[in-house]
Amino acid sequence: MTRSVLWVLAAVGLAPAPSPRPRLVVVITVDQLRPDYLDRYRPQLQGGLRLLLREGAVFRDAYQDHAVTETAPGHSTILSGRWPAHTGIIANTVGVLDSTAPLIGLAGPILPIGRAKQSVYWYQSGYFTTSRYYGDSLPLWVRAFNARRLPFEEAGAVWNLLLPARDYPEPDSVPYENGGAGFMFPHHLPADSAQAAVALAGIPTMDSLTLAFALEGTRALRLGGRGATDLLAVSLSTTDAIGHAFGPDSREIHDQILRLDRYLGTFLQQLFVRYGTGNVLVVLTADHGVTPYPERSRALGRRDAVRVIPDSLIASANAALDRRAGGRDWLQFDTGMLLLADRPRLAAQGVNVDSVIADLAGQLRGLPGVARVDRPADLAAQDTTDAVVRRWIHQVPPDAGVELVVTLKPYSIWTYPPPNPPIAMHGQPTDADAHVPLILMGPEIRRGTYDRRVSTVDIAPTLARLLGLTPAEPLDGRVLAEALAAGN
Ligand SMILES: [Zn+2]
Repeated sequence: MTRSVLWVLAAVGLAPAPSPRPRLVVVITVDQLRPDYLDRYRPQLQGGLRLLLREGAVFRDAYQDHAVTETAPGHSTILSGRWPAHTGIIANTVGVLDSTAPLIGLAGPILPIGRAKQSVYWYQSGYFTTSRYYGDSLPLWVRAFNARRLPFEEAGAVWNLLLPARDYPEPDSVPYENGGAGFMFPHHLPADSAQAAVALAGIPTMDSLTLAFALEGTRALRLGGRGATDLLAVSLSTTDAIGHAFGPDSREIHDQILRLDRYLGTFLQQLFVRYGTGNVLVVLTADHGVTPYPERSRALGRRDAVRVIPDSLIASANAALDRRAGGRDWLQFDTGMLLLADRPRLAAQGVNVDSVIADLAGQLRGLPGVARVDRPADLAAQDTTDAVVRRWIHQVPPDAGVELVVTLKPYSIWTYPPPNPPIAMHGQPTDADAHVPLILMGPEIRRGTYDRRVSTVDIAPTLARLLGLTPAEPLDGRVLAEALAAGN
């Protein structure tokens, strides 16, 4: 689940480039975009997704090849070329949130795109803003965009189907969707404009607004106009919001993907008009996939699909430690990782930490839905052709205080207690959550379909090769040379 607002735009000066290099690199990350959507809805695609599938290098076996398939770790691999084990961004809540850099003019969490102080903007409650890390004020073009109050004018707006209802094979009336309320078309935004600006993040129009803002940014910042390659990174979050609320097999996600396709078509067309098709390099990928909600999976015969909530187990372990070693939350559990912040201090209080952890591992193994529980140190020597082993090795830094890693069975999900648990969820080292699209399109890219297994950490080294850049630190990915024109 995306717990944070997301960045939408990063303009980074890369290097002076001779003419064959693109003027603009556009990296589009669609939150929770499963690659099977592109197959499922392909006959109805006619915009940007169709163009990328037809003209691009399409890697059909691409993964966010780490274990905690959440938004922050997923995004972090794409332009760094490094695993969470090497960046320290191991969950939405670990290694990401920075309380020293509040948003400008608004309250809300931040999720930085990187350390370079470039132009980086988020959507929050009706406005695009940045954090104090990146600047002390908003530039004129952002203030002018906000002054149009487009999100607030969506008050009372209706989300209806793009195509006739007969073109959607999915049933619309599925009472489990969206927590049992508002699970059928048409969907309505609140009549109150401030509430509508918040709720906008859950309907397709949000992606169109984000792309309009990104286009405005390319104009205002004159990207690609200084004889060097510029980078535009755009994150589109609505697919994640709709996927969590309605699930990956819903009529709502179907309509979202069709609209996303049209929005991307317009967006890319405008970039091609401005820069020329031969001057734009496009990358499309996702930060993770998603697992269907267990209630639906059970109805389809996967009887052991369950929601797993380890909270009470962790709470009683903490209570037992408090009685022995003093009051604090020694153990924390986050999306399959059991973290112990201060092992030496606990040991100094006379606690046999290994035995506490082993005991907890046994209890976690006993939870319905749990497939395996491992100590990260034990995984290092295991067979990395096992995707679960490999993804945990890519996930956990040795010094992060992760004592145990817990993997669920396919079709089971981590969840939260009421009132607002997500319907569908991601975060597991399963293929449903880790499999993502990876498409490159542009100059020096050989169009076609590629079946070799690749990963999102391969994107950064590939871009570096195309742009003639030498990475400043060792990267985990490899250059996707099979998709590059000869001579690269
Ligand atoms: Zn999510």
